[in-house]
Amino acid sequence: MPNILEIVQPDDWHIHFREGDMLEMVTNYSSRINNRCVAMPNTKVPIIDSNKAILYKNKINEASKDKFEPLIPCYLTESLDINDFKAGIQNNSFFGAKLYPSNATTNSKYGVRQISNIYNLFEILEEENSPLLIHGEKVSDKIDIFDREKYFIDDELKVIREKFPLLKIVLEHVSTAYGVKYIKQNKNIAGTITPHHMLLTKKDVFFNDKIDPHHFCMPVVKDESDLIELRNAACFDNTKFFLGTDSAPHPIEEKKNNVNSRPGIFSAPCSIELYTQIFDQENALNNLEVFSSINGAAFYNFSPNDKKIKLEKKDWIVPEFSVYKNIKVKNFYANKKINWKVIN
Ligand SMILES: [Zn+2]
Repeated sequence: MPNILEIVQPDDWHIHFREGDMLEMVTNYSSRINNRCVAMPNTKVPIIDSNKAILYKNKINEASKDKFEPLIPCYLTESLDINDFKAGIQNNSFFGAKLYPSNATTNSKYGVRQISNIYNLFEILEEENSPLLIHGEKVSDKIDIFDREKYFIDDELKVIREKFPLLKIVLEHVSTAYGVKYIKQNKNIAGTITPHHMLLTKKDVFFNDKIDPHHFCMPVVKDESDLIELRNAACFDNTKFFLGTDSAPHPIEEKKNNVNSRPGIFSAPCSIELYTQIFDQENALNNLEVFSSINGAAFYNFSPNDKKIKLEKKDWIVPEFSVYKNIKVKNFYANKKINWKVIN
C-alpha cells in the first residue's frame, strides 16, 4: 500500500461559491485543489444572463489565490432572453445550463415549473453540443422527500431524453441506486457523485422530529443500499460518473434542526481527502484518478489537466468551522479523522 498517491489534478464539476464574503472565504478551498470548477448559478441573484455570468466568473477569479477556471452554467428560467442565452452558449460565457425544478433546493424559487416551457432552450443546447446539468428532483406535496429523484427520472427525465436524444445531460449529485442504474443504462448521460452521499444515510440526518442540519442537503441522503451502489459506481468500472462535491456553505445561523433549515453540506475543506479515503476503504485507490480527473473532462470534451497533485496517507482532524470576517460555516466531517491529506 503506497503512502503517497499522485494523481492528475482534479476538477470539481459541481460546487457552490455563493457571493460576497462567503465567496471570498470558500473559493480558495477549491482553487487550492482543482483546475476547473462548475460554479453553480443559484446565487441570491441568479445567473440568468451572460453579463452576470461574466461578472460572476471575474469575482471568483479575483477571490482566488491560485489560477483556476470557474465555469458558469446559465440558470434556466421560463423567461430567459433567448438571444442572450444562445450567444452566451456560443461564446462560452455560459458553460451549458442548469435546470432547477422550482423550489427543489437553495435559491431555486426562480426555477422551472413546467419543463416543456423551456424546450426551445434545450434545442439550442442540443444544437450547440452544450451540456444540460440537472438537479433531478420532482417536487410535489404528494411525493415523499426520499422518492423525488426516482419520480424526476420517470416523469421528467425520460421525456426530455426522448425529445432530445443527442442532448448531453448530467444528472447532478446522484443519490439513489435507481439513478445509478438509469445513468448506466442510457446514452449521453453521466452523473456526479458527492462525498456525503457515499458517507451518510438518512439515519445520520433524521432523528425523531429533529434533523442534523449539517447533514441535511438536497437531494437528501438515502438508504445504505443506495450508498453502496453509489460507492460501486464511483469506485469500479466507471466511465460515466465523476467528481462533483456539491459543497454548499450556509452560515451556521441559517442552519436549523428542522426541515426548514437551508439545505447544503460544506465539504470543500476536505472533499478530495474524503473521496480518497472512500476509494481506499473500497480498495480502489487505482481508480480514484479516473473519477476525480479523467471522466468529467472526457464527458465535457476537455483535455485532462497537465498538473498533478499529491496526497499522503496520514491522519488529520477536520477543523470544526471555517471562519472569515463575520461568517462562520460548519465544516462537513468536523472534528473527525481523515487518513489522507493533500501535500504540495
Ligand atoms: Zn448543488
